Amino acid sequence: MPAGASALSLARPRTLKAALALLAEDPELMPIAGCTDVFVGLHFGTSGQRRFIDLWGLDELRGIALVRPEPSEAPVLRIGALATYTDIIASALVRRRLPMLVAAAREIGGAQIQNRGTLGGNVANASPAGDTLPVLAAANARIVLRSAGAERRVAMGEYYTGYRTSVRQAHELITAVEIPPVAGRQWWRKVGTRKAQAISKIMMAGVRGPVVRIAIGSVAPTVVVADKTARCLSAGGTLAEAQALLGDEITPIDDVRSTREYRHQVAQNLLAQFWRETE
Ligand SMILES: Cc1cc2nc3c(=O)[nH]c(=O)nc-3n(C[C@H](O)[C@H](O)[C@H](O)COP(=O)(O)OP(=O)(O)OC[C@H]3O[C@@H](n4cnc5c(N)ncnc54)[C@H](O)[C@@H]3O)c2cc1C
Repeated sequence: MPAGASALSLARPRTLKAALALLAEDPELMPIAGCTDVFVGLHFGTSGQRRFIDLWGLDELRGIALVRPEPSEAPVLRIGALATYTDIIASALVRRRLPMLVAAAREIGGAQIQNRGTLGGNVANASPAGDTLPVLAAANARIVLRSAGAERRVAMGEYYTGYRTSVRQAHELITAVEIPPVAGRQWWRKVGTRKAQAISKIMMAGVRGPVVRIAIGSVAPTVVVADKTARCLSAGGTLAEAQALLGDEITPIDDVRSTREYRHQVAQNLLAQFWRETE
């Protein structure tokens, strides 16, 4: 049953500092950004959450820019946690530096979801079917987490700890995602039940450069970085050898959207397509 609105409370801080102070006092508060995931849980009565903190007004979490977190570091692409898919699609900087993220954003939901759903929400939601996750993993992105007392950066490969769990603590917010320069040709493909407005059955992001990087979603409890497969291809191994390794790196399951066998087969097909199309 949907949660009655009168049973819900919403804090609306005006600054990031105020939001982090509220979370430090009460880590039970659940952050909401675009609310496109949270609302589904409330509407279908599957979420027991009743107290929320609204991040939407925090402009400090917006913006897409090249920044240098450390003076010695090459500039990284910094995408604020509140960047929507529409912001990402419209950004010339993202189109230039991370076209596979633009490709993924274009296939997320419809126009309403793209206008409201955020990158930070997709990462925090931690669904294995989150479309941006393979892109961020293939790009070696890091997640910027901030609490009232500290800021830390966590590599995508270390961010998720299991099915819908991550290293983020309840008093921390994702403030941004940082992506170092990506060397090589970028590739993205999502397979769903239909061409648009579909939750992924499986999706793959790949980078073909001096080092090959491959990440796949919806084939394990968390996004899979297929390191052995990528190393095989980087070292000049054959596609067949890489496909055999990929079969061992993923652990898909049967669920409402697809079967284990189908996902295994499609993962092999996607790897072949990635390799062919990035030659
Ligand atoms: C009709 C429909 C279609 C969809 N299609 C797709 C699709 O094709 N692909 C896809 O990947 N997803 C899809 N989604 C899911 C959803 O839109 C995305 O995951 C979106 O990016 C979530 O962002 P949001 O800002 O709305 O998150 P919210 O719903 O506001 O939050 C989601 C979760 O993240 C947490 N959170 C949000 N922001 C932060 C932050 N800055 N710091 C810490 N925690 C935070 C919240 O507490 C919550 O747990 C769809 C959803 C709907 C309803």
